[in-house]
Amino acid sequence: MELINNASLKDFTTFGVEAACDHLYRVEDYEELKLAVQYLERPLILGGGSNVLPIGDIHRNVLRIEMKGIHLLEDGDQPIIGVAAGEVWHDFVMWALRNDLGGVENLSLIPGTMGAAPMQNIGAYGVELESVFHSLQAIEIGTGKVRVFFKEECKFGYRDSIFKKEVKDKYVITGVNLQLTRDHKLNTTYGAIQDVLIEKGISHPTIHDVSDAVVSIRQSKLPDPKVIGNAGSFFKNPVIPTEQFEKIKEMHPSLPGYPAEVGLTKVPAGWLIEQSGWKGYRKGNAGCYEKQALVLVNHGGARGEEIWELAQDIISSVKDKFQIELNPEVNLWGNEK
Ligand code: FAD
Ligand code: NAP
Repeated sequence: MELINNASLKDFTTFGVEAACDHLYRVEDYEELKLAVQYLERPLILGGGSNVLPIGDIHRNVLRIEMKGIHLLEDGDQPIIGVAAGEVWHDFVMWALRNDLGGVENLSLIPGTMGAAPMQNIGAYGVELESVFHSLQAIEIGTGKVRVFFKEECKFGYRDSIFKKEVKDKYVITGVNLQLTRDHKLNTTYGAIQDVLIEKGISHPTIHDVSDAVVSIRQSKLPDPKVIGNAGSFFKNPVIPTEQFEKIKEMHPSLPGYPAEVGLTKVPAGWLIEQSGWKGYRKGNAGCYEKQALVLVNHGGARGEEIWELAQDIISSVKDKFQIELNPEVNLWGNEK
C-alpha cells in the first residue's frame, strides 16, 4: 500500500479540479485493505475518480482501490466471471470480447473501475450492469467484516443501488461477479447504434461490431477527460409522474419523455438544460459542454466550487422554466460532515 501525503486529487479524478487530500492510500492488496478499513477513520473510497467532484480540499483518508484480477468462477453457457474491484471497467469489456462473451458490449468505454460499477448500476445504450450482475463481495468499513451481496440485495434501480442509499459509505466493494453469455442477444435499437451499423454495411452484427459502434458514437459526442475535465453526465435524468409530465408538455410540446416504471416518465436532463440556454455556456473555467449539455466541464484550472456553483445555477434555471428538480449524478466530496 502506498501512502501519498498531501496528494493532489487533480491527478486522481477525471474532472481534474484542484483539490488537496491529506492522505491518499493506493491499495493493491486485499489483506491490507481489510486492515485499513478497520483502523482508518471514516475513509472515503476512490476508484477511477470519473464520478466524483471534490469541492474544496479533502481532510479525510482516501483509499484508492487498485486490486486486479479476472477469473472464471463457473463455466457453461452463462459463465460467471469474478473481477477484482480495481480492474478498469472498459478493460474488462475488452477481455469479455476477446473471450467471445456477451452482455457488456453496450457498456463499452464507460470510464472507471469494476468496484464502482454497482454503485450507480452503470448504464448506457439501453443496458445496465444489473442485466449481467450476479453478486459482489464487500468489506464493512469499521469492522472489517466480509459480506456477499446478491443481485436482489443490491436494490438496483435507474443509476441507483443500495450503496447510494441504505448502506451509503458503509462498505468497500472488493470484487464483482458477472454472468455473461455465449449465446449473444444483441441490443442495437438504442440511439445511433443501428445507424452506425447500417452506415458500415453490417447487417449481421457481432458483439464486437456493437462495441465498436458504441465506442465511435461515444468518442464523437463526449469530451475525453484526458483533454477536457469532466465526469460524464453531471445530473440524473429526472423520473417524474406521467401526469406531471403531460402537464408540462402542454406548455412545452416538444418535451421528450421515455416510459419508466408504471406511472412514471423519464425526461432527458440534457434537453431541459439545453432548452434553458446553458449548452456551450462558460463562466470562468467551468462550463457546459458544447455537444452535450448534460456534461459539465473544467476548461482548465477550475476548482470544484466553480463547477458546483454552475451546477446550482443550472438547477434553479431548469426549475424556474420547467418546474422539474435536477439532482446530481456525480458524487460530491467535501460537502459531507
Ligand atoms: P469513482 O468516481 O472513483 O467513485 C464513484 C463513487 O463510487 C464514489 O462515491 C466512490 O466512493 C464510490 N466507489 C468507487 N469505488 C468503490 C468501491 N470499490 N467500493 C465502494 N465504493 C466505491 N456512467 C454511466 O453509468 N454510464 C455512462 O455511460 C457513463 N459515461 C461516462 C462518460 C464519461 C466521459 C465520464 C467521465 C463518466 C461517465 N460515467 C458513466 C460515470 C462513471 O464512469 C461511472 O459512474 C463509473 O462507474 C465510476 O467509476 P470510478 O471507478 O471512476 O468511480
Ligand atoms: P442520447 O442517446 O442523446 O439520449 C438522450 C437521453 O435520452 C439519454 O439520457 C437517454 O436516457 C434517453 N434516451 C434516448 N433514447 C432512449 C430510449 N430509446 N429509451 C430510453 N431512454 C432513451 O444520450 P447520450 O447523451 O448520447 O448518451 C448515450 C448513452 O450513454 C445513454 O444511455 C447515457 O445514459 C449514456 N451516458 C451516460 C453518461 C453518464 O455519465 N452517466 C455519460 C455519457 C453517456 P438514459 O441515460 O437513461 O439512457
